[in-house]
Amino acid sequence: MAMDKKENFNQFYEKFLNLAKNYGHYDSSQREVILRVLYHSNAHLSADEIACRARKYIRISLPTVYNTLNFLENLGLIHTLVLPPFKTKTYKLKLDYHDQLVCIKCGTAMPFCDKKLREKESEILQNYNFTAINRTIILYGVCFSCQKKQR
Ligand SMILES: [Zn+2]
Repeated sequence: MAMDKKENFNQFYEKFLNLAKNYGHYDSSQREVILRVLYHSNAHLSADEIACRARKYIRISLPTVYNTLNFLENLGLIHTLVLPPFKTKTYKLKLDYHDQLVCIKCGTAMPFCDKKLREKESEILQNYNFTAINRTIILYGVCFSCQKKQR
């Protein structure tokens, strides 16, 4: 399921329905709203934040949000990130691959994308004759503004 950021939500959702059908899942307005919320967010969101945004459009319970997120995660469509300091699990739609720098002091997550790193990964996959379905590199550390506070 190749997803291009340039496509609009309806195109994306159509692809999603085709994929979900293979798993015996059909259209649901709640799932559509959650996907819409995720699609339009550039940041990782917690389940609470997703529920809050979805409730602008539809009545939805937190367990339903979690169920839907688990379903999407199992399909490989969700990028999750556990953020310090409260170990909050956050979710982002996997429209493109991105790696992260995560600050262990303030929890800021900075996405980055490095072409050379990506090329090296392809090389590794080839060498091991391995097909990857998911990839993420997370570098944990201390961000610049937290480093300044330490001094
Ligand atoms: Zn920080």
